[in-house]
Amino acid sequence: MPEIAHTDVAIIGAGPAGLMAALALSRLGIVVKIIDRRLPGEIAGQADGIQPRMIEIWDSFGIGDRLRRKGIHVHKTARRNGTGITKSAETLNITVSSTKYPYEVLAPIDVIEGILMDALREHHVFVEQPMVPIDLMIHETSDDNHNDYPVEFTLAKLSEDYIRSRNVSQADRSNLADDADAVESIQVLRAKYLIGCDGAHSWVRKKVGISVGGDQTELTWGVIDFTPVTNLPSCRAKNIIQSPTFGAMGYLPRPNDTARMYILHETPVSSGSGDVLDQQLSVKVADRTPQAIETSFLPFKMEATNVTWSSIYKVAQRVAESFSHKNRVFIAGDACHTHSPKGGQGANASMTDACNLAWKLAYVIRGWAAPAGGLLSSYEDERRPFSKALIEFDKEIFKLFNPRGVAPEEYQELWRLNNMFTSGIGLRYSSSLVVPKFHELAPGLAIGERFPRGNVIRQCDWNPVDLQDLMPYDGNFRLLLFPGDINQPVTAHCLQQSVTALMGDRVGRQCGTSTFKLEIIAVLNASKETDMHSLLPELPIPPKNVYVDDGLRDVGTTGKLYLEFGIKAGGGVAALVRPDGHICMLVPLNPVDVLAVKSYLASL
Ligand code: FAD
Repeated sequence: MPEIAHTDVAIIGAGPAGLMAALALSRLGIVVKIIDRRLPGEIAGQADGIQPRMIEIWDSFGIGDRLRRKGIHVHKTARRNGTGITKSAETLNITVSSTKYPYEVLAPIDVIEGILMDALREHHVFVEQPMVPIDLMIHETSDDNHNDYPVEFTLAKLSEDYIRSRNVSQADRSNLADDADAVESIQVLRAKYLIGCDGAHSWVRKKVGISVGGDQTELTWGVIDFTPVTNLPSCRAKNIIQSPTFGAMGYLPRPNDTARMYILHETPVSSGSGDVLDQQLSVKVADRTPQAIETSFLPFKMEATNVTWSSIYKVAQRVAESFSHKNRVFIAGDACHTHSPKGGQGANASMTDACNLAWKLAYVIRGWAAPAGGLLSSYEDERRPFSKALIEFDKEIFKLFNPRGVAPEEYQELWRLNNMFTSGIGLRYSSSLVVPKFHELAPGLAIGERFPRGNVIRQCDWNPVDLQDLMPYDGNFRLLLFPGDINQPVTAHCLQQSVTALMGDRVGRQCGTSTFKLEIIAVLNASKETDMHSLLPELPIPPKNVYVDDGLRDVGTTGKLYLEFGIKAGGGVAALVRPDGHICMLVPLNPVDVLAVKSYLASL
């Protein structure tokens, strides 16, 4: 009988969802074990488009710059239409301006996963691979016991040599458990929680009996990665093309002067699986596609050389009926939702699932939130409606395609209308964790959405800072105080009293001596030259947490952010921001109303 190992959270699958979940949990001090059936270094040609909100999130993990450095920045989509391709394509801005990064980063999946794995290594977490789960059992436990390890499963460490020598496909590796030559060791692991991040055909999802609802589309797509030899003027932007012969095509630039092309196929191909289809067909695509590409870009030259990967797939538009089982097993990423890659959303949605879930699990495991309270169930309450909206958007995209092709102008119009959604910037949660009150105090701060960017000056050293940079993914809640015109003695007094009231005793549920932190940040509607000490002699927060709404050099910029957020000079407001950067509550800033923040945190 193998020895039983223990971990706080076990994660099956090390794609974007699994790696992000492991990283987020590790940052919050949670012990994780993450496994994958892939061989080390084995890649799957999938996601490459990272949306603006995800770049912001990567920044909050301290890894955004690595992604921006390694990826292509795409600011515009060009659309090219019909016979005799237009010389000057019409273009559309890729995304909204209300983000620091108004562009999409395109980076191959191995680059994306590589950065996440490097970051994980810094936390001494390594993906164990090739490894598959072979059995799962959930022991009875009380709902309120966060010290118990009720999730037990058996894992098989597979032989790399065996897999390589017999060229065992990824899907078939789960069937190797009975083959003594293929299995190096068997391990039994007990975990407090399990996250199934094991993709569209999730073993975990099936094992706990979660069904998926939705359909498979009738359209078949080919995808090919290659090095273009071209004189196309917009060859380093996205291009949507309507070819009279070959129908709809999407062209994406990739790093190292390479590119990816999506091509709609006229003949639907039958498949039971719902995603990538068989190898032979993929080869056919690779054979046929270079010619289609050459013809469709005329009069420009577009030669597809050095084809490194190709595939053909049919799209399943499905959402799992539930995202969790017994509040102990959760699923995230493609295990919960699948749709077409056309919107460049799958990996983004998967990593956002992980970020939404990780801090909630960490709070419960560390004893800062009740296991049976609403925190864990809010994961499904927040992410499932989003997944359904994503499928609806995908259906809209599909309406624009038919076997004869796509109207690029309609495609672009759909994008323009859905920019807030596709960029991730407009994601708004609505659940028991989000309190929809006092919106009128700051109409520019949407309750449920991520806290927007905003330039301010730090009073203690006059450094310009973006408010978003004050919100790393470190497990802390943050309360941003906007007191109004601080030159008014009554406002200054009210601010001091409010902070004093908040600091009276611990915030949140206490576990032993540990609790999470509520970081208080004041943003004052004042000039950078204001003498803060004389105005606020008793403000009990560190000077580094006091900012003014002013520009560094510009004159007349005082109060711009207050204006943008719609905060009136005479009426203060406090915004509570969750560890994942979403605003969950607004309250009037006075010593009485601000106590609602404490009640909220104590009720987690
Ligand atoms: P996956 O990436 O599928 O990862 C699942 C992991 O689990 C894998 O590593 C797998 O080996 C492992 N696993 C599975 N079963 C087991 C098991 N039984 N035991 C152990 N390990 C297991 N999304 C975007 O956001 N932007 C894009 O531009 C984009 N382009 C795409 C282009 C193509 C051609 C395709 C096919 C997809 C694209 N997507 C895109 C979608 C994106 O790739 C997926 O949504 C994303 O990879 C899902 O992440 P995940 O971690 O949930 O699942």
